[in-house]
Amino acid sequence: MENSPFDLDFQNSNPDNRIIAALERISQSFRIMLWNESKVHSLTPIQIQTLIFLQNHSADKRTVTYLALEFNITKATMSDTIKILSQKELITREYQQQDSRSYTIHLTPKGREIAVQTSLFTNELFVPLAKLSPSEKERFLLNLMGIIRHLQKTGIINLQRMCFTCVHYSPNHNQGEHYCNLLNIKLETSDLRIDCPEHEEKKDK
Ligand code: SF4
Repeated sequence: MENSPFDLDFQNSNPDNRIIAALERISQSFRIMLWNESKVHSLTPIQIQTLIFLQNHSADKRTVTYLALEFNITKATMSDTIKILSQKELITREYQQQDSRSYTIHLTPKGREIAVQTSLFTNELFVPLAKLSPSEKERFLLNLMGIIRHLQKTGIINLQRMCFTCVHYSPNHNQGEHYCNLLNIKLETSDLRIDCPEHEEKKDK
């Protein structure tokens, strides 16, 4: 049987295991911080995440299909979330003329207010990050992007809107290690984007 990184003897035998255990702790912290925020507004974590996403993304991404992919849940579960947010008067639906079953989701003023307040739920993480040097931050960002890219390639997570999966991204360009052909700019490592509004999915990743 394969050893688990949560088996303490095995975990303490090499740093890879301890990095995975540390990522799990951070993921748990996100859940706790989100849950605390949800309780304040009598909403569930996915309802809060949906409001924050709607506040920060363009209309073409504010559909049930896109949200279901974004949060790795079924369309039926996402539709239920939207229904409840609508009953709470936090969102409205704008039906498309050519297909009356499809709609774009908009935040109401009340929904926007909650999205803005709750989107600060990760603030505590800035404290340890502020202690890192610029080069440590660059390395950290690159490593995290590498992990996210792998998780997407293996189908564990769906949509990603980061430079490494974008049709406009060129590595090792003559103007720099990272280059955006859409914006026509050299990107420093610290400029690499995790969620870019201009992102276009590269077919062959
Ligand atoms: S369009 Fe955005 S995601 Fe794509 S390469 Fe440029 S900055 Fe990166």
